[in-house]
Amino acid sequence: MFKDLISLIYPQQCAGCGQALVQTEKGICVGCWMELKKFKHIHLNPLQIHAKVKHQFLTYFFIKNDVIQHILHQIKYHGNKDAAFVLGNEIGLLVLKQQEILDIDLIVPVPISKKKLKLRGYNQSEEVAKGIAHIIKKPINTTLLIRAKSMTTQTKSSRFERWENMKNEYHLNKKLSKKASLLLVDDVITTGATIHSCIEALENQFSQIHIAAVAASKQ
Ligand SMILES: [Zn+2]
Repeated sequence: MFKDLISLIYPQQCAGCGQALVQTEKGICVGCWMELKKFKHIHLNPLQIHAKVKHQFLTYFFIKNDVIQHILHQIKYHGNKDAAFVLGNEIGLLVLKQQEILDIDLIVPVPISKKKLKLRGYNQSEEVAKGIAHIIKKPINTTLLIRAKSMTTQTKSSRFERWENMKNEYHLNKKLSKKASLLLVDDVITTGATIHSCIEALENQFSQIHIAAVAASKQ
């Protein structure tokens, strides 16, 4: 009741179009969902990411200036955790169909640096992971990986430079007691460098590794 009253005074906005959401909507409005469905499912060339990746759960094509970019921006910079959660649910439903075969033990969100975490207050990939965990009922591990330093001039460097810079960005922070089947989660996969670096850091920790992201783009 009180929550309803609050949302009447301050209606939640859709992460895609910015319109006020109605009570039955969470994070993303019905219209933007319809828009999103047009870009459903993407499968990357394994060489773009990492040869060890067994399964990919990538829900949408990443298209610049489209609704998907707006949503990801709202999730990353404006704290739209509801949108991250419902998109995580979408991924979770895909994973659930394969879970019997894959037997995923842990969900591992790609970490952000401590500095960024302090500044932003949350890790967007972890918010997506929460949505997945809600569906597949598996724990999230946020201590396994750590991001060393913040990249600053990312956008100005070439693709090759970005790959090179990213190589040593992620490190193993705390070992697992035994190898596990892992689901590595990012918000969006563009060059594949982040995922590659994380998998290198996770070497010897997994029996199987799978990846998930809200969106991805082909190179
Ligand atoms: Zn919308």
